[in-house]
Amino acid sequence: MEDMNPNGDSFAVALEAITAAIGADNVLTQDLADHGDPFAPPGEWYRPGAVLLPGSVEDVQAILRIANEHGTPIWTSSQGRNKGYGGGAPRVSGTFTVSLRRMNKVIEVDEENCMALVEPGVRFFDLYDHLRKTGSRLWMSVPDLGAGSVIGNALEHGVGYTPIGDHFANHCGMEVVLPDGDILRTGMGGMSNPHNWLIYPYSCGPSWDGMFSQSNYGIVTKMGVSLFPAPEVYAPGWFTLDNEEHFGTFLEVLRPLMIDGTISNQPMIINAVCAASAFGERKQWYEGADPIPEEVLDRIAATPGFGRWVMRFALYGDEPVVAHNRAKIERALTAIPGGAVSFDQYDGWNLPELTNPHHRVQAGVPSMALDQMTRWYGGEEGGHIGFSCAMPIAGKDGVAIRDLARNLLNERGLDYSAAIIVGRRSMIHVALVVFDTKDDQQTREAYAATKAMLEPAAKLGYGEYRSHLDFMDEVAALYDFNDNAQRRFAEKIKDCLDPNGILSPGKQGIWPANCR
Ligand code: ADP
Repeated sequence: MEDMNPNGDSFAVALEAITAAIGADNVLTQDLADHGDPFAPPGEWYRPGAVLLPGSVEDVQAILRIANEHGTPIWTSSQGRNKGYGGGAPRVSGTFTVSLRRMNKVIEVDEENCMALVEPGVRFFDLYDHLRKTGSRLWMSVPDLGAGSVIGNALEHGVGYTPIGDHFANHCGMEVVLPDGDILRTGMGGMSNPHNWLIYPYSCGPSWDGMFSQSNYGIVTKMGVSLFPAPEVYAPGWFTLDNEEHFGTFLEVLRPLMIDGTISNQPMIINAVCAASAFGERKQWYEGADPIPEEVLDRIAATPGFGRWVMRFALYGDEPVVAHNRAKIERALTAIPGGAVSFDQYDGWNLPELTNPHHRVQAGVPSMALDQMTRWYGGEEGGHIGFSCAMPIAGKDGVAIRDLARNLLNERGLDYSAAIIVGRRSMIHVALVVFDTKDDQQTREAYAATKAMLEPAAKLGYGEYRSHLDFMDEVAALYDFNDNAQRRFAEKIKDCLDPNGILSPGKQGIWPANCR
């Protein structure tokens, strides 16, 4: 689809009608940087034509009605802080974007069943503040940066680092406004008087929730999210590995500890560059313009607390259970040559103020401290994109993706910074492609390097779990079983639910009929 011209006739007429419907204060046509892609390279790039800030479900319906009347596409974001993947910017430049930042109420917290019902503008910081202000004893799950929305993160399959860190898997019940303005509630919300629609995720029939994640089939206006009771003991741990040679062995040892729940949260494994970037800038270690050499990586790895690879993880629960699991983990991980384990331990019922950002995030306390990682090449204007694929927790897979990402990044002069997020049976290897947005050449190389990794990874059978706007089409094309059956199916549904093609055209490579 061609870019949309914000001065075009239909856009201008629709803008007038939407302004009349939701109020001029809630329509932004200037200074839209905070709603765009924060790490865009210079020149033409994805950007909103105007930002619409609905305050209610009725406002959302009015916007959709007008968009349908005039055929003017709208893109959805909740907070629009999905920074490494394009922020709040639309796939088709110049179109309207709906930002749900004003719809930011925590509607309900169910202390007994450990659930909350939230609106899309609720940030992790907001939910946390709400829980603490209302005296709740429940803990929540947060990603590394707390400024994003609970709903946007879950819909994008984002993760946190507590036992409920698979955020989409830990939602229950959604309210969705469909492209034609109709309102659907999923699961038990399908009844007009559900006793409690936040505890049982299904209804009696097909389950629709997955259709609204990473898609362009609806605007989610409410969602149930899981919380969990404060544990008696909270024990964040570290594993450090001083060599590359046993990286594969380490993953083999880790897999059974994940599958049987000995480690119940979502650990994160980072390499030396990523670990160093959390604490300071590259120039502390190396000034050369070439990729950081092996001997410097060894110097970083030899720093106390660092390693060639470092895993952060945590244990939660009753004291004897934590003690048992801790001993089991220590036995398993210290048997790996060059491996060391350490733990801290806190009273989960009277948690002190935590200063270490890693300890905060695994206790579900939001923070922005790890934003530091984007400043690796110096200054406040660092950017990052993620090349992020899913695979088994296995030595041969970890080694294959490490070598692939490292070689392709190093070929383009970029350092290999990796963060591997571990789930029950899978891990997501994120090559955190960091760059200085003031450096045009480096910024372009970063986007090019990320794109260049897609195909070789797909040849090994690794698919992206999430994608930046700039390569949604490429990623979708690589899901190519049976002549791209997934995309063909997605298009059939798109044409049926959104015949005018107004909602987020191009999201995840799903284009409406009039753009294909
Ligand atoms: P965050 O709020 O965590 O910053 P975003 O608002 O950037 O996340 O959302 C990430 C992506 O998820 C958006 O680009 C959009 O495709 C999708 N999304 C976010 N919120 C909604 C919503 N309420 N309904 C439907 N899709 C959404």
